Amino acid sequence: MRKGYYEMYGGQFVPELLMPPLLELEQAMELIVPSRQFQEELGLLLRDYVGRPSALYKCPNLSKDLGFELWLKREDLNHTGAHKVNNTMGQALLTKRMGKPRIIAETGAGQHGVATATAAAMLDLECEVFMGAVDTERQAHNVRRMQLLGAKVTAVQTGTKTLKDATNAALRAWIARQQDTHYCVGSVVSAHPFPQLVRDFQSIIGREVRKQMTEQAGGLPDIIVACVGGGSNAMGIFHEFVPETSVRLVGVEAGGTGEPGCYSSASICKGTNGVLHGSLTKLLQTEDGQIEPSHSISAGLDYPGTGPEHAGLHESGRAEYHQVYDHQALEAFQILCRREGIIPALESSHAVAWVLANKDSIAPGSRVVVNLSGRGDKDMGIVEPLLFNDVEA
Ligand SMILES: *Cc1c(COP(=O)(O)O)cnc(C)c1O
Repeated sequence: MRKGYYEMYGGQFVPELLMPPLLELEQAMELIVPSRQFQEELGLLLRDYVGRPSALYKCPNLSKDLGFELWLKREDLNHTGAHKVNNTMGQALLTKRMGKPRIIAETGAGQHGVATATAAAMLDLECEVFMGAVDTERQAHNVRRMQLLGAKVTAVQTGTKTLKDATNAALRAWIARQQDTHYCVGSVVSAHPFPQLVRDFQSIIGREVRKQMTEQAGGLPDIIVACVGGGSNAMGIFHEFVPETSVRLVGVEAGGTGEPGCYSSASICKGTNGVLHGSLTKLLQTEDGQIEPSHSISAGLDYPGTGPEHAGLHESGRAEYHQVYDHQALEAFQILCRREGIIPALESSHAVAWVLANKDSIAPGSRVVVNLSGRGDKDMGIVEPLLFNDVEA
C-alpha cells in the first residue's frame, strides 16, 4: 500500500506551504519514535505519570446479566481521565526530541486542549490552544483548566467560531512558526503522517489488551468494541488485532437523535467520500460537497468526518461500523453506573450501548472487550437536565 494510504483513503491534500513541516514530522516519526531511547522514555512517562498499564476489568454483574464476558479496558483511569493523553504525551515528547520549544493544538469541547496543555506543562513546553469563540463560552470550565496548566487559549472569531475554524487557525499558526512549533493533532485524522503517528501512540491500548487477556483469560478476545469520533481510541485498541482475523472489530458511531432529517456524526455509516482536514475519507456532506453540521449527545464524537484508516478498514471489511443513538448511549451510561459503579464518558457509553443492543446475537461465553475511553464526570452538565428534570428541587 502507498505510504499514508489505507485502501484508497488518506493522503496529503494540503496547501504547499504545509508540506515542509509534514515532511519533517514524517522523518521524525520514522527515525525518532521507533528508537530505543524514545520508546524507553515514553514508556516511563506512561507508567509513572499517566498510570499505565490501565486495568482490563471483567464486569462481574453485567457479565452475569448478559451470559457472556464483558471486559472493560479502563482508559478512564488514566491521568486526565481519558485515552487522549497517550497521544499528547507521545507528541509532546517528540516535540522536545525535534528540538522545538512550542506546541499548539486545536480543540472543540476542550478535552484534547486539556490533554495537550497537561503534556506541555509536564515536559516544559510553551503551549497555545486554538478554540472557537462559541466553544470557549460553552466550555468555559475547560478554558480555565488549560489556563491553570499554563497554556494560552486563543478564542477564534472567524466563521462559525467552532472546531473547524479553530483547526484553520492552528494550521495558519503552524505555517507561520514551523521552525519552533509542533502542531499536536488530537485524533487519527488530518494529512499523513498524523493518522499513523496518533495511531502508533494509541496502539499501546491494544498491546496491553493482548497481554492482559492472555494472562487473565488464557486467550484472545472474541469481539472488540470502541466508539469512533475521529477514531483514535478505536484505532488504538484495533491495531494490534487487525492481523488476528478471529477477533471481530466493531466501531460504533454516534447516530444522534435518530429522528429523520436530523444531523448525526455517523460518517462511515451515512457519509460519502471526500476530503476533510487534509485526507480523503468518509464524511457527512451535502450533494455539492459542503460539510454538514454534525450532532451527538457526546461532544467527543461530534465530528463530521472520521480517520482514513477506519474508512479503509470498512472498505476492506476487516472492521464493521454501526451507529448508536443518543438515547441508547444515555441508557447504557446509566446501566454501567448502576450495575458496575463506573460512570463512563458519554462517548464510551456508545460502545457499551452497542453491546447491550446486540446481546442476543453474541454467543454465550464470548469474551467481549469494550474500550472505556474516558470517565463521565465531564458529562454531568449534559446528563443532569436529561435525567433529573422530573425531580423537584
Ligand atoms: C475525544 C474522545 C473520544 C473521541 O475521539 P476518538 O479520536 O474517536 O477516540 C472518545 N472518548 C472520549 C472519552 C474522548 O474524550
